Amino acid sequence: MRTPLLAGNWKLNCTRDEARALAQAIVDGSKNATDREVMIAPTFVSLDVVADVVAGSNVGLGAQDVYWEASGAFTGEVSAPMLKDARCTHAIIGHSERRQFFGETDYTVARKVAAAVENDLSPVVCVGESLDQREAGTTMGVIEKQIAGGLCELPAEHYPKLVIAYEPVWAIGTGKVATPDQAEDVHAHIRKLLETVLTPAAASATRILYGGSVKPDNVDELMTRPNVDGALVGGASLKADDFLRIVNFAS
Ligand code: PEP
Repeated sequence: MRTPLLAGNWKLNCTRDEARALAQAIVDGSKNATDREVMIAPTFVSLDVVADVVAGSNVGLGAQDVYWEASGAFTGEVSAPMLKDARCTHAIIGHSERRQFFGETDYTVARKVAAAVENDLSPVVCVGESLDQREAGTTMGVIEKQIAGGLCELPAEHYPKLVIAYEPVWAIGTGKVATPDQAEDVHAHIRKLLETVLTPAAASATRILYGGSVKPDNVDELMTRPNVDGALVGGASLKADDFLRIVNFAS
């Protein structure tokens, strides 16, 4: 009942020409994937070229971040109305790299989520524990705080737009993937949390993606778990063949 979403986070990669070519290959290879959704998130400067390529296809366009003010003296930021104008459909918010290197907090996540939904963008809200937190046994507590804090300004009428990405920090870009059972445990916990943070109906409708070293050879098994509704893919989304294999996971 939840349409799988396979999303590629290109991070700080690709010139505009490279972005155009990669997007074209992904659009071409996703044509028959009609029972699932695809989204790609290039850098801000490549949004327009990728928007031209994905126009009219079943591939959505994501921004890797968004600022909560609409305009003004906020040097370096890009706002939600601007992303909408650039034809974005999604915005990744609270990625662990932004939390780790750019001071993102649950408070800034909450403000960005509110700005995104008010501008008709689906927020892909990232949560996940560090290796130290996992080893200390505090994973669920960390996730609870990130979910409650990050969603506290999400109005009920926008619950249907929400996507969550569970990305254990220790699995991002490390080649160390969470086992399907580890992912399922946390996803099931997140869904339970959403029952109280949102509503039971919204909890069962919200897609929860797994992210962290998703590759062609592990996607099929991850996707067998009942609460894994898709993937947020970094490294493997930069190679068209690998990403398309993930998009076309065996269902
Ligand atoms: C990510 O950046 O969201 C990610 C999951 O990266 P990777 O797939 O490279 O681990």
